[in-house]
Amino acid sequence: MASSSTSSSLASLASDARLDRATGLLRLASDTFDVLVIGGGITGSGVVLDAVTRGLSTALVERDDFASGTSSKSSKLIHGGLRYLQQGDIRLVYEALRERKRLRRNASHLVHVLPFMIPILSKDSVVSKKIARALGSAMWMYDLTGGWRIGKLHKRINADEAFAHIPTMSRERFSSAYLYYDAEADDARLCIAVLRTAAQHGAVLANACTVVAIDTEVDGTKLITLVDKYTGDKIVARARTVVNASGVWADDIRELDEGTHPHTIRPAKGVHLTVPWDKVRNDIAVVIPVPGDKRSLFVIPWVSNGDGTYKYTYIGTTDTDFKGPVNDPQCTKDDIDYVLRALNAAVNTGVTESDVTAVWSGLRPLVQTSDGEAVKGRTADLSRRHRVTTSPNGVVTVTGGKLTTYREMSQDAVDAVMQLLGSRHRCSTQRLSLRGSARFSPTKNASDLVRHIESRYGTDANQIYALIESDPHLATVLIEGLPYVKAEAIFAVTHEMATTLDDVLSRRTRSRLFDRRATIAQAGEVAALIAPLLNWDETRVANETRAFIDDCAREDAAARVTEEEFINSTQ
Ligand SMILES: Cc1cc2nc3c(=O)[nH]c(=O)nc-3n(C[C@H](O)[C@H](O)[C@H](O)COP(=O)(O)OP(=O)(O)OC[C@H]3O[C@@H](n4cnc5c(N)ncnc54)[C@H](O)[C@@H]3O)c2cc1C
Repeated sequence: MASSSTSSSLASLASDARLDRATGLLRLASDTFDVLVIGGGITGSGVVLDAVTRGLSTALVERDDFASGTSSKSSKLIHGGLRYLQQGDIRLVYEALRERKRLRRNASHLVHVLPFMIPILSKDSVVSKKIARALGSAMWMYDLTGGWRIGKLHKRINADEAFAHIPTMSRERFSSAYLYYDAEADDARLCIAVLRTAAQHGAVLANACTVVAIDTEVDGTKLITLVDKYTGDKIVARARTVVNASGVWADDIRELDEGTHPHTIRPAKGVHLTVPWDKVRNDIAVVIPVPGDKRSLFVIPWVSNGDGTYKYTYIGTTDTDFKGPVNDPQCTKDDIDYVLRALNAAVNTGVTESDVTAVWSGLRPLVQTSDGEAVKGRTADLSRRHRVTTSPNGVVTVTGGKLTTYREMSQDAVDAVMQLLGSRHRCSTQRLSLRGSARFSPTKNASDLVRHIESRYGTDANQIYALIESDPHLATVLIEGLPYVKAEAIFAVTHEMATTLDDVLSRRTRSRLFDRRATIAQAGEVAALIAPLLNWDETRVANETRAFIDDCAREDAAARVTEEEFINSTQ
């Protein structure tokens, strides 16, 4: 349990940009907002920040936890996407690479440069000159489209250099490789940083609050009925405009507003697997081909030990049409087999299912080409561009897009809101530092703990250190083998609106995505640690722990059945 000295130090912490659910609910019941945003993924978070910084009174409601939908389950790349260039979507890549540059500046503590290698492999000692030439042209195109903005151009490296980056591949297979640069970020933390910035500017936020009805009064005011997940209470919020940023659920919200389900979203499932780094030993991200498919997978080292080695590597992503329930996309045996087949065709360490320490699965909210039109072909070939539409009742829906382009999507959505409101304030998020990033510079020769904390909180690291200073026990490890400390779980509750054990273990920290078993082993202890802050009694601690373990067991069970068996089991 958190000690009493912890509780008193919490009270003395500066409350700026603290995400406060109780205040949020009160304001939702009493204020009339210029805009109310539905959905607390990266898109909704971006919209609420854009709107509040244009001077609008703004609120956001999220059904579950912030980033609990797709926005915590991405590949965590802030990138243009070489693949989209190869599909001819030059505009998307150009815009994404421009946003990548902005994000590196505006969220400098969270967005880190990541080198990528595309090996050029020889088949029976013969290199396909055609493939190498085509790749070379694609690399130049990527640089010219905006890859240069990262300050480094791609280069060709020889077989020995390539092998040194991933020594678990056979040296003989390399002919050479291309090296280029993109960036990575913890998606769920990015979401929280955007939301805390919005809160700092006065936005009202609440998670665990589901929108169940949208009505329009004669004067155009929207009445949005919300249900509080914990009390079951109904709240009717009032707003002049509504933005629907609910990802793969966007059509359901449109149905509440328009009366019919428009069927515009085609969900595409993508999974990732985590394995111990020793199984791959890659010191940069590597793009590996999937045998017998035209796709490739990213193999990404995760959690640096600071000495060129890492703790984990994650591999993904798949891209398949999803026919199951959108509330429950699971990583099935088919997905695991697909990823391991590609990995084992690349490395010679014989990675098996029992080596997999964690999995995650998410749905891309891809937009079909026109409303209701059935689109054939692979989801991988559908555009990642976003779309903003306004309903006859004046509800703005923003769908599609990418984590990387959330700011631009938000700008377009709020431009549509401004039109409805007849207001002219312009977007100012292009150069707006996110919480923790303004005047942040990493400590030189930092200890592992300081490096870890700074890379997650930036200048707010001081608030974590203040907690530790008041109670040194909070500097101890949260989950054995993982870099998180107990102070982070406390901060997740006091400042980041974590309201469940899963919020802390899956999104505020990413423990469950690194090592599910190790996380389960300490779930009860973490629940007891945060219990006093959430007024949980012993029964609630036991229930939270049980719910977390059961959810992990469901994930484990899904990984043992085929996609078809899993979908049948949900019907
Ligand atoms: C496997 C995979 C890998 C990806 N990798 C990358 C990548 O590396 N880089 C990149 O740029 N992009 C990537 N993407 C794309 C990116 O992750 C998504 O475009 C983005 O996260 C979508 O965010 P969103 O806010 O629109 O949706 P979500 O994050 O799903 O948010 C929608 C929210 O709405 C809430 N909601 C739904 N109904 C209601 C209701 N009735 N009331 C209140 N709230 C409601 C949901 O709970 C949810 O939290 C990837 C996507 C996938 C699936």
